[in-house]
Formats: sequence, structure tokens, C-alpha cells
Amino acid sequence: RRPEGLPIIHDDAPTMSLPSPWRADFPAFAAFARDGQTYLDSAATAQKPQAMLDALLGHYAGGAANVHRAQHCPGERATRAFEAARAKVAAWLNAGSAERIVFTRGATESLNLLAYGLEHLFAPGDTIAVGALEHHANLLPWQRLAQRRGLDLVVLPLDGAGDIDLEQAERLIGPRTRLLAVSQLSNVLGRWQPLDALLALASSRGALTVVDGAQGAVHGRHDLRSLACDFYVFSAHKLYGPDGLGVLHGRPQALERLQHWQFGGEMVQQADYHEARFRPAPLGFEAGTPAIGAAIAFGATLDYLQSLDGTAVAAHEAALHRRLLAGLRAVAGLRLLAEPHNALASFVIEGVHNADLAHLLAEQGIAVRAGQHCAMPLLRRLGLPGALRVSLGLYSDGNDLERFFAALERALELLR
Ligand code: PLP
Repeated sequence: RRPEGLPIIHDDAPTMSLPSPWRADFPAFAAFARDGQTYLDSAATAQKPQAMLDALLGHYAGGAANVHRAQHCPGERATRAFEAARAKVAAWLNAGSAERIVFTRGATESLNLLAYGLEHLFAPGDTIAVGALEHHANLLPWQRLAQRRGLDLVVLPLDGAGDIDLEQAERLIGPRTRLLAVSQLSNVLGRWQPLDALLALASSRGALTVVDGAQGAVHGRHDLRSLACDFYVFSAHKLYGPDGLGVLHGRPQALERLQHWQFGGEMVQQADYHEARFRPAPLGFEAGTPAIGAAIAFGATLDYLQSLDGTAVAAHEAALHRRLLAGLRAVAGLRLLAEPHNALASFVIEGVHNADLAHLLAEQGIAVRAGQHCAMPLLRRLGLPGALRVSLGLYSDGNDLERFFAALERALELLR
């Protein structure tokens, strides 16, 4: 029930400052406008361009078939389109070869794959290092691995700005550190982590390196030939693609060290009743029927993103982000969790519970995220029960922010 005096704010505000030239490419915004919804939760999942929807529908409407197993024409067509999508992901990441790209169900599955596939490399007493800001997806698989193998999980503390503290990392990453797993861009603090220094440090100590690019992959293009990590993971759905699809990029020597973890169709070279041999990456790590339609649709998403002027996208996101931060700073009693670099801002407001605020914002049609953002240990370390997060996509515009700030003002009038 919407409390009296809290109308949904419709998409007809007079100001059109900071319009997004790409908004019309995303049909969800017509639906949101009809429903009076303002979507500011893109870090949770992004809206989808028409090009992606067309490709998804086109795949199924054109005749679905399984990949890598049929001689018939629909099967060959599906296989070609699926492998073309893999090549597009490789090209987007400047990965060199499509052989480096394993399709998974999401960043979470990519990280679980690694925690199982690398398990054989660890001996009791070895160490895994993770950042203090990790999303549960990049913490719990390593925590479970540490429990299974009797390893030490070392947590790299943050400095005052919200970045992994390099001096402490220098001290904590030692010769027994076999693996470092860190986020590229924090989903809570919105800060790019000092990856180059961390990766160089971990590699110099002989550790494997895993980068969680779930948030980072969404902002700008990242050249994986110059990012010196062994593995890089992200989810398609945050990069304007379909859900149910993730990417695991590995350097060839790193992929060779992975043991197979899921077993079934098409990952097999030879199988008998009591033994089997398995394919190398990528197919050896894609047991069963993969997310064929999603992969093809993601390829189309990347074609769409490739067609945009990346500099203009970055400038638009930066201008909106500046406006978001300026507006938040003007709110009495509001405290940012960190000074975010990119596309999101997390905050608390003195005397106001984040869940109450999120509720009153939702009542007015404002979709933002509240709570612990799948990073409970970080929130606990910050001494907070939760925080509110506003996050932007390339389609967000100045009107979204105006509606958000108007709704925030009304909500605070009620709560304070
Ligand atoms: N890592 C980070 C930093 C994230 O923000 C997220 C999702 O919010 C994930 C990992 C997990 O992604 P998914 O739920 O798509 O597997």
C-alpha cells in the first residue's frame, strides 16, 4: 500500500538534462515509464537492448537445436552461432583466442568452478588471499575450499579510502599464498581496486590470480592481454546481456591446471563404464547443454555495445555520477560509504534505517537496492546493518536522478 502523500513520480518531468542517447534502445524503459518506475539498480542487473531481445527470439523462432553434437542443419547453425558468440566475447576482452573463454551460468558459477577445479593444487597450511570487500560469490567458494583442504583464508584489509591496502597486502601475501582472488570494482564501495599492483605482488610470490570482474566488466573495455591475471570472470546479465550466462576467461597455462568439475555430455573425449577422459577447455568445462540462446543473445549484445561510442558512454556515465554524488552530498545527515569512482553510490542516512527508506522509495516507484549487498562481512566491518545503493547504466538519465531526489526528500520528510 502506498502511504498517502507519496505518489509515484511519472516519467514526464520537464527537465531533460543529461538525456541518454541510448535509452530508446532499451524497451524496458517504455514499460517502466508506463508503470511509473525509475530503475536505479543496474549494478544488480542491467536492462537489455532490443538487439539482444531480437537475437534471443531469433534463435528460438528460427529453430532451436543443440550444439556440438548434431550433423543436421539446425544443429550446425546453432553450433556456428554459439561459437561465434564465444569469439565475440574473446574479441570484446581482447583475449586473443576464443579457446580461452568458458561459458558458465554466471560469475558465481565461474568462481565455484575455479574453487573446485584448482582444489588439487592446495596442501594443508597453504593460504588463499581475498579482499575484505568481496561479494559473497568471491568469498564463499574460497572459504569452503579452505575448509575442505585445511587452508588459511587471509583477508586483505582496506585502507581509509576503501581500497585493498597495498602495504598490508605486501605483508600478508607470502610464499604460502597459492591464490589471490579480488574484485576489480567493488559492488558496494564503487572503487576500482589497485589490481595491477596486487596482481604483480601475488604473481611475484607464485600465487595464481583470480579477478572478479562482475562489476568492472560493465564499465569500459578491459584488455585482458594487459591485465596480468590468470582468471577473469563476469556475468552477462550485468553487461546488458541475458541472465543464466557467465564467462570464465583463463590464460592457457592456467586453464591447463584446472581439473574437471562437472561431468556429463559433450565434455568427454572417451568414456567407458569405469573410466573416462575429458576434453580440455573450453568444452571440457561446459558439461551438458549450455545456455545456447543466452550465449547467442550475448554475442548480439556485444555487437550492440561495440557499435556505441565508448568515449561518449563513459562521459555520460561520469556526468550522471557526478550529479548523483553532488545531490547526495546535499542531503543532511547522509554519509557515503566511500568516495565511489564509478556508476554507483552507497550511503547511509543518520537516524534512518536503510530498509525503511528503500520501502518508502519503492512506494514512489524508485528501484534502488538496500541491505548488505551480498557482502555481509564488509558491512559488518563497517559497523552497518545495511546501506542504500543507487546504481546507473548507460541508459540512465538526469530525469531518473531528479525523480530519485524528489522521492528521497519526501521519504525523509516522513521518516525524520
Ligand atoms: N561479484 C560481484 C562484485 C558482484 O557484484 C556480483 C553480483 O552482484 C557477483 C560477483 C555475482 O554475480 P552473479 O550473481 O551474476 O553470479
